[in-house]
Amino acid sequence: MAELLQLVLAGADERDLTKLASYREVGGYVQLARARGLTAQAILDELNASNLRGRGGAFFATGRKAGFIPKDSPQPVYLAVNADESEPGTFKDREIMARVPHRLIEGCLILAHAISSKSVFIYIRGEYLVEFEILRAALDEAREADLLEGVTIVLHRGAGAYICGEETALLESLEGKRGMPRSKPPFPAISGLYAAPTLINNVETIATVPPILELGGAEFARIGTPDSTGTRVFCLSGNVVRGGNYELPMGITIRELIDLGGGVADGRELKAVIPGGSSFPILTADQIDTPLSHDALAEVGTFLGSGVVIAIDDRCCMVQLALRVAQFYMHESCGKCTPCREGTRWMVQILEAVEAGRASQGELDLLLSVCDRILGKCLCPLGDAAAMPVASYVDKFRDEFQAHVDQGGCPLAGESSLEDLFAPVDQHSHDPVARVPA
Ligand code: SF4
Repeated sequence: MAELLQLVLAGADERDLTKLASYREVGGYVQLARARGLTAQAILDELNASNLRGRGGAFFATGRKAGFIPKDSPQPVYLAVNADESEPGTFKDREIMARVPHRLIEGCLILAHAISSKSVFIYIRGEYLVEFEILRAALDEAREADLLEGVTIVLHRGAGAYICGEETALLESLEGKRGMPRSKPPFPAISGLYAAPTLINNVETIATVPPILELGGAEFARIGTPDSTGTRVFCLSGNVVRGGNYELPMGITIRELIDLGGGVADGRELKAVIPGGSSFPILTADQIDTPLSHDALAEVGTFLGSGVVIAIDDRCCMVQLALRVAQFYMHESCGKCTPCREGTRWMVQILEAVEAGRASQGELDLLLSVCDRILGKCLCPLGDAAAMPVASYVDKFRDEFQAHVDQGGCPLAGESSLEDLFAPVDQHSHDPVARVPA
């Protein structure tokens, strides 16, 4: 069985690392002191050697992205931390903020040094009030201990919009405007917050920076797979015995992760798996030996996304699931561009008809046509995030969709496990024994 390898969450099972003194006992802020003695380029070199790639979903090379920030900008340079974790199935950043807030702060200060920034903004999802309070207390401690050395770190609470996890919508929201994506280019590295150069990284990405400096970039790159290095805090949920966060080397298989979670709940059969988060194409049960790495998942037509695995058992109605996903994206569409604004509504209308048994023959093809008219035609990734999964559900479970049309309703009526699928997960389990069987 796969074993936990904790770098980002290291020490949190043994100590309360929300306190500065405890964090120092496990080597906290040692890498910050070291980094401040290094040149900015030396830090970027370590990040490049580690091949760390963004943990928020886009998977862009972190060192390369930081390297886009101009070295001689006459404007201030900003670091924006994307803590607006909202992708359904994703709950790792909240655990990182709740359990190792100082590692995030240390990572912020190292990155700020690497891009010569004096201003850091942590944009935290509005619903994460507990995490906000923990992070605020940790920040106060770090400030009182003079660890910030002239860097200002601002905690900014969002107001509950999924789209503010998109980097340019996040910047708009930080500026006090309605959170809507901007056209790119210009990219934030050139014209970001207040039109100044801005580096935007996800919480897990930044919390991985201190362990990289501790291990050395090359050593970090030996963990995982060549394209997906290091560890990942995988979020396991759905119809499994023990959902939760599991920090593991990249490249373990979906099957190994589900086994770590005790397997499919209630002795049911696995029907499908949503990898990456609700925005991505689904996999069938016979594909769970796929490694959780960027290249391996791309080969089977899906994505690593935010490191999610949602297990789906044989009671789940795929039409209901598709409808729930489409309703979410319709609700969260900011409305700025037509294919997404109108297309998500069309998807919901058609899926409602299929689910209720009112759809006529041909409407499944119409649904796929609507998806096709959204894919690749929107201003930001939300449009694709709505269309890709739904198209994949129809593609892989076409018989089930067709049965709704032919039979005038759901063949699983009354037995669907959709509510179990979205049951809350105890992602804050602090008991490693409870999470990992011996
Ligand atoms: Fe807004 Fe959707 Fe267009 Fe993104 S794709 S800008 S969320 S309407």
